[in-house]
Amino acid sequence: MNILFASSEVVPFSKTGGLADVSAALPPALASLGEQVTVITPAYRSVWSAGRPIEPLDVDLSIPIGSKVVEGTLLRSSLPANGGSTSVPVLLVQQDDYYDRDGLYGTPEGDYVDNCERFVFFSRAVLETARLLSLPVDVVHCHDWQTALVPAYLQIEYRGCPGLERAGSLFTIHNLAFQGQFWHWDMLLTGLDWKYFNWRQLEFHGKLNLLKAGLVFADRLNTVSPRYAEEIQTSAYGAGLEGVLQQRRAVLSGILNGVDDTVWNPASDPYLPQNYDASTLESGKAACKAALQAELGLPQAPQAPLVAFVGRLTEQKGIDLVVDVLPEWARTADVQWVVLGTGEPRFHQALLTLAERFPHKLAVRLEFSEALAHRIEGGADMFLMPSRFEPCGLSQMYSMKYGTVPIVRATGGLVDTVIDATPQALADEQATGFSFSECSPLALSEALRRACELYRRPDQWRRLQAVCLRQDWSWQRSARQYQALYRHICEWRMQAATV
Ligand code: ADP
Repeated sequence: MNILFASSEVVPFSKTGGLADVSAALPPALASLGEQVTVITPAYRSVWSAGRPIEPLDVDLSIPIGSKVVEGTLLRSSLPANGGSTSVPVLLVQQDDYYDRDGLYGTPEGDYVDNCERFVFFSRAVLETARLLSLPVDVVHCHDWQTALVPAYLQIEYRGCPGLERAGSLFTIHNLAFQGQFWHWDMLLTGLDWKYFNWRQLEFHGKLNLLKAGLVFADRLNTVSPRYAEEIQTSAYGAGLEGVLQQRRAVLSGILNGVDDTVWNPASDPYLPQNYDASTLESGKAACKAALQAELGLPQAPQAPLVAFVGRLTEQKGIDLVVDVLPEWARTADVQWVVLGTGEPRFHQALLTLAERFPHKLAVRLEFSEALAHRIEGGADMFLMPSRFEPCGLSQMYSMKYGTVPIVRATGGLVDTVIDATPQALADEQATGFSFSECSPLALSEALRRACELYRRPDQWRRLQAVCLRQDWSWQRSARQYQALYRHICEWRMQAATV
């Protein structure tokens, strides 16, 4: 099948979050299954430092944006070959007024004010590129609000173009909290008829909602875990769009993200002071823990469980719960903590204050550091993810691969990946971590207490780690599910065309 994979961020060209990792790993995994995938993404300023060869294509894009026409061009690059796959072509949409900026979507002060225009341009450019290059497309696979207009344009404007007559569309929701909502006059930028600005289609409480376009117009929808696909149909998790999602539930499914084994593998991780695998787990982790404690300025205490949090310091990730329980734990328990992340200033401040108060118990690093994130996975004993909602979550899967036992709130992808260490699950060698349901400091503390109790029984702890290490989080596994979904879309489109 020919897949056009449209994403607003792709490692190594650009990244603000997990979407960039998915867009870098899934296309090569699909290619190794024999699919023809072309990735298309904006040529931000960061693409020039990606370390990939980039060459111009002799193609001019003329894209209508409201009453004007905006010119752009195309560049060609590729994703590095992965394992058995050939390298995947990447098309970069160049429009320097829109994309040659420091950030992808904004500055630390806030979002760019012309984000609607920037991604209307990109969404139109995706299909215009397919038309101009005569790309055969079986499925155009779009992600999040930035490309959510593509299924709408495909259905409304591009259906008659050669190569696109039978193209189907898949829209993947990576995080429903980000919807691309703009004031209603931005509808003019889209070039779509006002008749689509109604509560069943692009309108949402008087505003233009780009994500909703994807939800309404795509042939199939999916999210990044089966549980999140269910949760977003409820008012607690649906962010106001639960009604639309309920209506489309027959075409909505969940596929877990995978882990890039070339990046997250303790046996070959270049950031670790000592590599290890299942057979050397105990000594390897001990060495990594000692080095991490030294790096963080924590006492060299092999017996003290080292609990880690790496992630955005926001309420979504439950850092407020961690801040709540920390003083009591730091005062009373022989447990060490490390927090690595950036986010809301109020959490920065609270964590710095706690680190000053408990310098021998808590190390705080308010930065983005890929290297330290790897060393924390290697050296920590437990990994905390008390998220309020979690579409998939990657760190719990990295943690399992590193024998770092996850402690998670039972939500979204965390439910689908972490099996709570009940006595039965431990006895059956099924348990892969600790989970708690209620979103409260008390429930988090109770899960931590259970984890620390098991940690003090080394034999049982080792067995739990061994089960974690055995889990298969490969992209091959996810790619096979996406392949089946694409096939389904193609068959459905074929039938629709013959009726
Ligand atoms: P989300 O995409 O919602 O932020 P995920 O768990 O899906 O959460 O992915 C987050 C990724 O970003 C993980 O790989 C995590 O290790 C990484 N990450 C988050 N914050 C930091 C940080 N401060 N330093 C290094 N890596 C980070």
